[in-house]
Amino acid sequence: MADEQFIHLCQPDASKSCGACCGLYNYVNSSKDALTERLSRRTELFHLTVKGPGDLAAFSAMINRTEDAAKRYEVIYCCEYIGFIDPERKKVGCLLHPLQNGGVDLRDVSFYGRELCDGHFCPSYHYISPEEKRALIHIIDDWYLYGLCVTDIDLVKEYFRLISDGVHEMPRARRFENGILRDIALGFFSFKTSWPFRSADANRLGKYYFDGSQYMISHIDYEALGCERSRFDKIFVSLSSDFRSKGEVERGENMIDEKIDAFIGAYHTLT
Ligand code: SF4
Ligand code: SF4
Repeated sequence: MADEQFIHLCQPDASKSCGACCGLYNYVNSSKDALTERLSRRTELFHLTVKGPGDLAAFSAMINRTEDAAKRYEVIYCCEYIGFIDPERKKVGCLLHPLQNGGVDLRDVSFYGRELCDGHFCPSYHYISPEEKRALIHIIDDWYLYGLCVTDIDLVKEYFRLISDGVHEMPRARRFENGILRDIALGFFSFKTSWPFRSADANRLGKYYFDGSQYMISHIDYEALGCERSRFDKIFVSLSSDFRSKGEVERGENMIDEKIDAFIGAYHTLT
């Protein structure tokens, strides 16, 4: 992946980054506030106590002793070395990375090992198209929301499919740099954290449901709700929907429709 067209989804720019595969969202309490507090505390501890490789065992032991380690899914490791990597705390990332340690790579001590940490590219790299990647990077500037969305391939693909169908082309990524189109798209992706029909179950993350050592893909039982499978089913599942009635499904559909229609209307006005 060394070509100049390569789009670095993990650390795309100075405004945000992703740490999902380091287990960031695998804590039972993975709210933004809880993660911000967790990462802030360990970042401070790291810079205060780690002066070289010999200090890492004590750092790790301190994290394990003092943090709530309850996980959603036992199989996914929650790495103690993810923290904030910029002074503004806009970017999450690896505290062991050479850029954080004067050029010294400390990742040999990590659970996955240096090579895996350095060379891992999640499925989003392959399934999200270059134009969709660039657009998403323009749209979202918040690490918490960005990490949730960039790893949700269904949500990203469905959104760009729906708006592309509506405007009869895939909008160029630069159309999302700023302005009304970006705002409307951000409104859609923000459903990831504000969706009113989201399941309250802490073991649910997007379309996945975790049961200790197993995970399952969630489904919406439309028959029990007395309605047809929604055309927005994939989006609903990605948003962890837990509808109580047919009326809630319809309200959900209207909310998605509104965002898609608003984009199409604004796009035509601006073109
Ligand atoms: S989940 Fe994907 S985008 Fe996020 S840090 Fe891991 S490899 Fe990068
Ligand atoms: S050591 Fe590996 S898993 Fe841990 S934060 Fe760094 S890159 Fe992520």
